[in-house]
Amino acid sequence: MEIKVNASKNYSVVIEKSLSKLNNYLSIIKGDKVAIITDSNVEKLYGNVLDNYISTKTIFHYTLPSGEENKSENKYFEILNFLAENNFKRSDTIIAFGGGVTGDLSGFVASTYMRGITFINIPTTLLSMVDSSVGGKTAINLKSGKNLVGTFYQPALVYICLDFLKTLSEREILSGMGEVFKYIFILGLLNKQDVLDGINENLIYKCIKIKQQIVESDEKESGDRKLLNFGHTIGHAIEKASNYSLSHGECVLKGINLAIEFSYEKGFLSTEKYNEAKEIIKLSKADLSNPFSKEDLIKYLKNDKKGDGEYVDFIVIDNTLLSKIEKVKLQELY
Ligand code: NAD
Ligand code: ZN
Repeated sequence: MEIKVNASKNYSVVIEKSLSKLNNYLSIIKGDKVAIITDSNVEKLYGNVLDNYISTKTIFHYTLPSGEENKSENKYFEILNFLAENNFKRSDTIIAFGGGVTGDLSGFVASTYMRGITFINIPTTLLSMVDSSVGGKTAINLKSGKNLVGTFYQPALVYICLDFLKTLSEREILSGMGEVFKYIFILGLLNKQDVLDGINENLIYKCIKIKQQIVESDEKESGDRKLLNFGHTIGHAIEKASNYSLSHGECVLKGINLAIEFSYEKGFLSTEKYNEAKEIIKLSKADLSNPFSKEDLIKYLKNDKKGDGEYVDFIVIDNTLLSKIEKVKLQELY
């Protein structure tokens, strides 16, 4: 399966069960050198498996320790120096081989090294397959907050191989399911049955199709791309309040649940549609309870870079069970 994304750069997102077709797509690599950036877990599990498909190039490997804390200034400069020391030129290529951390960081490196070199993403987590690998957002974290530095830089290719999902822990699967559930409420291409059918090519295809359409209509997030934040405004606040002990997906699912509650309280949803939305989110089988007080969450919501301090662009759903953007006063969010 293949989806073409027509953004500031046109590229293919390929969805396959194995890596066997990777070779066919790698003609986009023009230079002599390829740097494969991965993390320690992916390296342990999959070693140099990609090398077999890129045999005509000189391959360099860079392995990050796994974990969000490595989406950092230090690692960013370390990789830039790694490329420079190995004489990478503008015509050479970076391949991110890992989850969203590896992808966001490698994409940021690719977008800034010599003002931009070719970037390929081979995502290995459910979250990175359905969400972060597509759409061109790159980032690193600062001490003061997540994703504070980054660029919009589209990849030249995204190759999704479902085989990599086999080694993901249940917790990491649930983390990706946070994004999958948000897509049910965006554009209406993905439905309850798709999710009940389990994680397969169809599910991933539909999620990316939604992301592709949103990104094509609003690449730099001045409007509709905000819809992809459904469940994320409160989700991020819960994530911070838990000091990141809860995973992103767990928090997004709680955030979606609270956004449904809020949509009902504000009169956007009839009781019937509210019940329908609640049934959908319960299919995640996640713990949807919110352990934090309003005061706790508002403190973190105030720092949200997507709000202006007093108001946030909050994503609600209406009786179509699809999301829309509402400017909401922080104090009203509960
Ligand atoms: P991650 O990259 O840390 O991966 C999660 C864990 O799974 C890590 O421990 C990793 O080593 C391990 N792992 C990766 N592939 C594996 C495999 N096949 N088998 C077993 N273990 C594997 O995190 P993530 O959840 O993939 O991504 C989260 C990041 O994505 C965050 O930094 C978030 O900000 C970012 N993000 C970016 C966008 C975007 O549009 N750019 C969108 C959503 C999230
Ligand atoms: Zn998310």
